[in-house]
Amino acid sequence: MPSNAAIAPSTLSHVDLPWRIDWTGDKCTLCGQCVAVCPVRAIELGVFRKREIKASFGLSTTSENQYSVRYGIRQKTDPGFACIGCGMCDMVCPGDAITPRRNDEQPKLRMHANKGGAPRTRGGRRNDRGSLLDQIKFVRISMLTDPALDAGRHEFDLTTMIGRILPPETALETLRNQGWMPPVRKIYPLLIGGMSFGALSPNMWEGLQMGVAYLNEELHMPVRMCTGEGGCPPRLLRSRFLKYVILQIASGYFGWDEIIHALPEMKEDPCAVEIKYGQGAKPGDGGLLMWHKVNKLIAAIRGVPVGVSLPSPTTHQTKYSIEEAVAKMIQSMSMAWGFRVPVYPKISATTTSLAVLNNLARNKYAAGLAIDGEDGGTGAAYNVSMDHMGHPIASNIRDCYLNLCRIGAQNELPLIAGGGVGKNGNLAANAAALIMLGASAVQVGKYIMQAAAGCVGSEGDRCNVCNIGVCPKGITSQDPRLYRRLDPEKVAGRVVEVFLAFDSEMKKILAPLGRSTSLPIGMSDALGIGDKNAADRLSIRYCV
Ligand code: SF4
Ligand code: SF4
Repeated sequence: MPSNAAIAPSTLSHVDLPWRIDWTGDKCTLCGQCVAVCPVRAIELGVFRKREIKASFGLSTTSENQYSVRYGIRQKTDPGFACIGCGMCDMVCPGDAITPRRNDEQPKLRMHANKGGAPRTRGGRRNDRGSLLDQIKFVRISMLTDPALDAGRHEFDLTTMIGRILPPETALETLRNQGWMPPVRKIYPLLIGGMSFGALSPNMWEGLQMGVAYLNEELHMPVRMCTGEGGCPPRLLRSRFLKYVILQIASGYFGWDEIIHALPEMKEDPCAVEIKYGQGAKPGDGGLLMWHKVNKLIAAIRGVPVGVSLPSPTTHQTKYSIEEAVAKMIQSMSMAWGFRVPVYPKISATTTSLAVLNNLARNKYAAGLAIDGEDGGTGAAYNVSMDHMGHPIASNIRDCYLNLCRIGAQNELPLIAGGGVGKNGNLAANAAALIMLGASAVQVGKYIMQAAAGCVGSEGDRCNVCNIGVCPKGITSQDPRLYRRLDPEKVAGRVVEVFLAFDSEMKKILAPLGRSTSLPIGMSDALGIGDKNAADRLSIRYCV
């Protein structure tokens, strides 16, 4: 018990913390493994000295102090060391003596996590467990003229297009006048979205790359993975596996020195180039790789000094407006690869997405538009941005698709939807709903981290220390002591399993619609929802 002098306004008790540690002394072997593994040093091995007053019986008025000593685990209450509920202590404890428990009292830590006047930042995800996508049902089953397929017996491949698909007359004219047609790639409709080399550990990246290569080479599923902002390992740039990679360029241009230098030696073109303007978790902010994660390897790939934070500007500099930036960036990226590679921008979902889309529709070099909804994850963001900024993906993608329909370009410009897809485990259902709302493809990041690498983060603010390089699972850490916990081959195996399971589930949804040759992009008459307002907003059937 601290003395009164030690109690300050921000002195907290265990009751004020979001996670409390249950420790059972009887089961504890005092091995110290929990303390060693804790990523935020929330617990310590303590020596507890207990004073008991022993009163003498009888006529004597004297009493004496008796001291006993015991060793045990103590949870710290300093906000800087608050338990994040990752459960690593539980995982390593040989005697089941320790486990984190969510506090049922509204934690007061939130009011004290802004020490030094700096608001809380975190990695991870938005603290909102709900998802409109989960409520959408598939209500149209073909019975008469277009009989349903049997997903198990009728083999069909799921593919989609990335690239500008010009109508025949415009395509012919472009070909005749310019000797050129916009590049188009056939890809799998589920992409691994941009998570950079730097945000992810080398073992995680290697595992993802191996999984993607296996899916393509052995299972002939054209799965693609985006690099995120941070470049690409030099060996991959010069390998034939580059064709499975979407290179991302963002406003910090990190890693692009290496990419430009590798251009003459590339054996294959990348699948596409994504120009990042925004991400769902922090609209209006540029990327940020905190200094904790900028080690020698990352610094070399990104062409920066070791140990400095790497914030990207909020937008691409030297351009007057987003329209000009998008047009010029698409043009210069297309030129770098001789107009052979599809180039498209990625923006955060906002009410201004339509303006960007309309602009792209007039630019025949634009190969699509990726939109990241408010539930998108991030490596590092302000708490307030993550929890309160951005636009849900479902309605934003719907608005954009209906706008494409209005201008007659719905089959021309693919929309790629992301941000919280599968956040409650319903990956295929969420993806199918987004496709039927108008997306040509869907991208995921957090889901892959959870399903393929065992990320313990959750929408309930569990873990989420991806930004400071102490990831207990070694997924988002650049510390070899942490990332050696992650076996790249096991990650690769799980990536393959995740895609195969997704494929089966998607076919179970799509086959009953009678669709086997093309994705039901925008087939919203197959969708229903039990919420009238949501049905009106999305222009889908109201079903109760
Ligand atoms: S749950 Fe995680 S953060 Fe909390 S004490 Fe255990 S290891 Fe540390
Ligand atoms: S386990 Fe790692 S990647 Fe997952 S939330 Fe925690 S720090 Fe982030």
